Amino acid sequence: MINFNIAIDGPAGAGKSTIAKKIAKELGFIYVDTGAMYRAMALFFLRHNIEAKDTKKIEEACKDVNVSIEYRDGEQIVVLNGENVNSFLRTEEVANMASATSVNKTVRLKLVELQRSLAMKENVVMDGRDIGTYVLPDAALKIYLTASATVRAKRRYLELQKKGISSNINEIEKDIIERDHRDMTREFAPLIQAEDAIYIDSSNLTIDEVVDKILSLYHSRVSACKN
Ligand code: C5P
Repeated sequence: MINFNIAIDGPAGAGKSTIAKKIAKELGFIYVDTGAMYRAMALFFLRHNIEAKDTKKIEEACKDVNVSIEYRDGEQIVVLNGENVNSFLRTEEVANMASATSVNKTVRLKLVELQRSLAMKENVVMDGRDIGTYVLPDAALKIYLTASATVRAKRRYLELQKKGISSNINEIEKDIIERDHRDMTREFAPLIQAEDAIYIDSSNLTIDEVVDKILSLYHSRVSACKN
């Protein structure tokens, strides 16, 4: 049986992971957060004081990194050289390092193999930047999820505030625009909307509205396959 895979791509803070997680739960699919894999690689580089611009050291270090994924109670655990690193991945420092080092082809190829093998085994909802265009070009449903940079910055700001972390909304927006630019202009597997992806702008939609929209697209694809 060929798996029904759902690819969700889009810029930082568009709500991809929250939405992908909900869809996966609803459909009983596996959720694969590819950004977390790039973050784990970034964590390794940071821990070893390797600078993002030092291409030679980054490529050397890739040989020493082993990233794998496990699932516990439905949650994705990222394992970096045997260590569960989930609790270290959500900082701005790691996010910026992931953005800067994910332009490197060696870094990307290392993770793409893992991503494809997960999608071969199970039905997945996979989110990232290049899933519909490069990692899973045959995914049965592709979504390009975006929102304005101002809305995305505000969401991130409120999320940090909720966690009791103070931040500057203008700085967040600046970071987001910089990361988008890097992701969209890199040479290898940049962030672009796949030709057959459905564009959803979530600026004025709630999470549940986006989830419902994607689920109804899924159901119509499935019934089209049956007819
Ligand atoms: O989605 P998240 O913010 O966790 O991703 C962290 C970084 O990893 C992104 O800024 C992006 O540069 C990179 N990434 C990527 N390709 C993916 C997923 C993430 O380049 N499929």
